[in-house]
Amino acid sequence: MIQSRKTSDYAICTIGSHSALQILKGAKDEDFKTICVCFKGKTQPYLSYKVADEIIEIDTIEEFFKVEKILMQKNAIVIPHGSFVSYLGHERVKKIKMMHYGSKEILEYESDRTKERQWLTKAGLLMPKVFTHPEDIDRPVIVKFHGAKGGLGYFVAKSPDEFYEKMKKFPEHEEDKDYAIQEYILGVPVYIHYFHSKLNNELEIMSFDKRYESNADSIGRIAAKDQLTADINASYTIIGNIPIVVRESLLPDLFKMGENVVKESKKIVNGGLFGPFCLETIIKKDLRIFTFEISARIVAGTNPFIEGSPYTWLRYNEPMSTGRRIAREIKEAIEGGKLEKVLG
Ligand code: ATP
Repeated sequence: MIQSRKTSDYAICTIGSHSALQILKGAKDEDFKTICVCFKGKTQPYLSYKVADEIIEIDTIEEFFKVEKILMQKNAIVIPHGSFVSYLGHERVKKIKMMHYGSKEILEYESDRTKERQWLTKAGLLMPKVFTHPEDIDRPVIVKFHGAKGGLGYFVAKSPDEFYEKMKKFPEHEEDKDYAIQEYILGVPVYIHYFHSKLNNELEIMSFDKRYESNADSIGRIAAKDQLTADINASYTIIGNIPIVVRESLLPDLFKMGENVVKESKKIVNGGLFGPFCLETIIKKDLRIFTFEISARIVAGTNPFIEGSPYTWLRYNEPMSTGRRIAREIKEAIEGGKLEKVLG
């Protein structure tokens, strides 16, 4: 790593997927060189939108560790995103030697449901009740399979009998007890996009989204009797993201929640959580906010806001995506001789 205080001496890189377009565009807007590490056959968006100064193609994720040396020679800083973490897994993320933005350690907490729950409940967040034994199901529950991509196969049940009946379709998970049973929270999903600056120790709310999921978001388009006839079960395959502006009186609580999560994170990992993160919540009609998950890195729900969101506009008066906010933080760290502070 060189000790230069000039942004143009560094490159920002990530894997071509998830939120790479805004990460690379944001980095370019902040005067970084940009590199996209891309799977063969997936380069077109990064070429067409001209966000990458350089594209390095790989066949498999294992090759990332081969190109890492080249990236290090180019003084590149890698920005982890959802697909990056999911392709590599948090254990392999720890093995990355090149400059890595954000805490690696905290990724272990977001990928382990028990650790995540301890962290968030200690931070005072409301979470859906968890049922350890299917026999205890006494209300509607959502059954989630570990490692299910995009909520594939999740189902809703409201009694032990219904649970066992529906579970028959998934013998592999039944055998391994590879599922989590959570109280089903009836309300609207709201994904809160935060950014915690390590440099000024301030928490920002960047934007909010809800997800557009197949087929959960289309079931309402056919009559209930037809849903029953066709025996349709809801699935939650993510297709896209829809921006939200929340009721303004909720904002004070939403800021507090984010601050408490950061405060608590400092007790569990060195340096705590910083940079972008997201609380995935469901807000009930009585306005109680239930958090069912945290993502401790940039989420794809920030993608509608490449030009900025209503909230970043209030604060910045210039287009400020979460990707650009990351690059701005790194730039300020470089110029202030504090780059180490934002690396993990
Ligand atoms: P990841 O975000 O790790 O990819 P995922 O997409 O596999 O996870 P979740 O985000 O946990 O799955 O949930 C998928 C869908 O299920 C979302 O639409 C979410 O709103 C809904 N959901 C999750 N937990 C609950 C809950 N406890 N009550 C009601 N709905 C829930």
